[in-house]
Amino acid sequence: MSGRSRNLAWLGLGGNLGDPQDAMAKALQAIDADAQTRVSVVSSVYRTPPWGKKDQPDFQNAAAGVETTRTPRELLDLCLEAERGLKRVRAERWGPRTIDLDILLFDDLTIDQPGLQVPHPRMVERAFVLLPLSEIAPELQVDGKEISALAASVDAGGIERITTNGNWWRAGYA
Ligand code: ATP
Ligand code: CA
Ligand code: CA
Repeated sequence: MSGRSRNLAWLGLGGNLGDPQDAMAKALQAIDADAQTRVSVVSSVYRTPPWGKKDQPDFQNAAAGVETTRTPRELLDLCLEAERGLKRVRAERWGPRTIDLDILLFDDLTIDQPGLQVPHPRMVERAFVLLPLSEIAPELQVDGKEISALAASVDAGGIERITTNGNWWRAGYA
């Protein structure tokens, strides 16, 4: 990685069309292939009931920690490129999609720019974000609260862990 400072960022992944686990795996591989970014820890995959717009298939969700010397805006562009590469079609907001990649946290930065808000403004109320993130970073803090405590405070009804570990995204992993 380059001489720029290295930061730890946390991503939320999800999808509910086609094969979401495969799409999330390919997205993480694409991000890991960036010379300035390493995927360092990945949660299990969780099956979660649809949120927002409820009349759509179940989602699969996961979270990942990445080390990067990219800026937050560059990391967002990497995420959006990975989505485009997987042919995500942007239709209705919170509707079905093959892949969604959000930056949840970037080091301890607070960012409020057009097109980029960090911490992700809706993460603290979403069980499908907090459960996977709590698996890999229980002590991480957002708004002064630990992820594990936030995860314990939301309704986790209907959420099921569907892989035994975080290796599912690696190329060739059976
Ligand atoms: P939500 O943001 O509620 O999870 P969504 O993920 O479905 O909804 P998208 O259509 O994927 O929303 O994203 C719309 C825009 O949100 C993106 O083009 C991006 O510019 C912007 N955005 C703002 N903050 C972030 C962030 N932290 N991570 C990813 N995208 C963000
Ligand atoms: Ca999202
Ligand atoms: Ca998104």
